[in-house]
Amino acid sequence: MAGIYFHIPFCKRICSYCDFYRSADLRPLEPLLGAMHRELEVRAGYLHGEEVRTLYFGGGTPSLCAPEALQRLIDRARSLFGFGRLDEVTVECNPDDLTEEYVARLARTEIDRLSIGIQSFDDACLRLMNRRHTAAEAAEAVHRVRRAGFRNLTVDLIFGVRGFGGESLERTLEAVLDLGVEHLSAYHLTIEPGTALGRRMAQGLFGPVDEEVSEREFALVHGRLTAAGYEHYEVSNFARPGFRARHNAAYWSGARYLGIGPGAHSFDGRERRWCTSSVAEYVAEPPRYGSEVLTPRDCCNEYVMTGLRTAGGISLGVVAQRFGAGRAQRMAEAAAPWIAAGTLVCEGEWMRIPAERFLVSDAVIEALFEA
Ligand code: SF4
Repeated sequence: MAGIYFHIPFCKRICSYCDFYRSADLRPLEPLLGAMHRELEVRAGYLHGEEVRTLYFGGGTPSLCAPEALQRLIDRARSLFGFGRLDEVTVECNPDDLTEEYVARLARTEIDRLSIGIQSFDDACLRLMNRRHTAAEAAEAVHRVRRAGFRNLTVDLIFGVRGFGGESLERTLEAVLDLGVEHLSAYHLTIEPGTALGRRMAQGLFGPVDEEVSEREFALVHGRLTAAGYEHYEVSNFARPGFRARHNAAYWSGARYLGIGPGAHSFDGRERRWCTSSVAEYVAEPPRYGSEVLTPRDCCNEYVMTGLRTAGGISLGVVAQRFGAGRAQRMAEAAAPWIAAGTLVCEGEWMRIPAERFLVSDAVIEALFEA
């Protein structure tokens, strides 16, 4: 099973925490879409005939594109890759793009899952983040897409924002639970140097929360959402039964995927490839790519990293079978102190981090990594 990711690197306004590659100049959007059709054609053999089951439009802000333009990309991909009915077609949306008219057009496409970037239900926090919408507008956008018939919604939230923990975070969680969405992604804020928040931090006007606050807020998010029936199935992801993110879950399980668009990454089971992130260069074909072939050690580390970030964990049997008995033995030894401390739970040959301790997953992963 394989997936195709389409990257739309444009945003009307740049959020203060965001260091993804994107541009606020929307003029090259049309030429970009044309270049994406060309890239699909050139790379039609990349997935080695593996069946495409999921599509994902990410960014940036794909909801800046006309729904019909997104459907044309789906149609072109279908004609080139020969897939039938898809399991999941997701598009990331900004709440203020989801007007009545836009949503009605979106409902006439094959897109069946909307990922809505809400981040917070506190207007002061949304202003700090330089978001384009208010809390009330975000809630109304969710009601609007429901009325249009969308039955698979995911919402992004950010916690760990100085000044917006405690009651503010509680209100955000209550508000999102009231919406009854099928899936949630909750990310801890990281303040990157090149961002507006990074510049404010350099001037001493803003800063990260303490580790203790991070832990408390993570526990609050985990506790509230799991008590409401969501499964905490990956470090940052929560789903109602049957609504795990299929496209993203395929990444975590090492499936093949093709990334289309500037800055998009691809993986064919052996080689990772990434396209130039410059829109100007991408539009002036042919795009340039960087690539690396993954060694068995890289593949093993990748398996550990993605597996331990999920509720399923990793299997020493799989490590032995795919990467060698020596690696499995070394990993069992490295895992022993974490098992003794209760951070890793062992069930037969499987090891996993309990969801309430996902926050320390990076330290465990590092310990199990092969240098
Ligand atoms: S909308 Fe998303 S990609 Fe665009 S600036 Fe904000 S966080 Fe970054």
